[in-house]
Amino acid sequence: MRIDILTLFPEMFTPLTTSIIGRAVNGGKAEIVITDIRDYTLDKHKKCDDTPFGGGAGMVMTAQPIASAIEAVDPEHKAKRIYLSPKGRTFNQSVVKEYAALDRILLLCGHYEGVDQRVIDLYIDEELSIGDYILTGGEIPALAVADAVLRYVDGVINGDSLLQESFTGGLLEYPQYTKPREFKGLTVPEILLSGNHEKIDEWRREQSEKITRKNRPDLLKGDK
Ligand code: SAM
Repeated sequence: MRIDILTLFPEMFTPLTTSIIGRAVNGGKAEIVITDIRDYTLDKHKKCDDTPFGGGAGMVMTAQPIASAIEAVDPEHKAKRIYLSPKGRTFNQSVVKEYAALDRILLLCGHYEGVDQRVIDLYIDEELSIGDYILTGGEIPALAVADAVLRYVDGVINGDSLLQESFTGGLLEYPQYTKPREFKGLTVPEILLSGNHEKIDEWRREQSEKITRKNRPDLLKGDK
């Protein structure tokens, strides 16, 4: 899978070069191409933003540099083009699976007050929000989307991990424990040391239901 990220702040994407995603890229399972929108501006001062028509606070990213960058990296519109925006569809695990099934996605990061609407109208397939709050830019949302989607690409992580985690199967995950058996007076639940896998599965299921009921009752109602 290839992920294109278009941004004014390419230096914010070093997290994708480390850990599991870094290994996936180095191992050829995924390609991440970061494009600096500023490289495409025709403005002699390299400006990529301007004041909003109609007045109001802040600056808006201008259309030309973004349009030229998109046309350069995806000339035949092979990627699903996504603009990270608080006004978009809310990102969740079913969107992750939907995107992971694609060959290419392109993530456009806004900054300041966002991008000129004509970029969205002319070039964008979908606006995507990572939640009901406002960040300074689309870079952190793009990192979240790239990380979550690439986990689902074949061979990036162990398939069993994907089957037994929160949101898969409509529940949150059960509590996990590792060595030592006792830590600051708290011990690992006996059942996990029993070797009885049927009983362990039953306990985990009960724990999953309990934590989902407490933290995310909406999942049990099938709202998500
Ligand atoms: N003026 C915009 C509004 O009220 O909807 C917010 C602009 S925000 C300060 C700047 C950029 O951050 C946006 O263009 C978008 O790319 C990104 N952003 C902020 N919050 C986001 C969220 N919850 N999900 C996705 N992107 C977000």
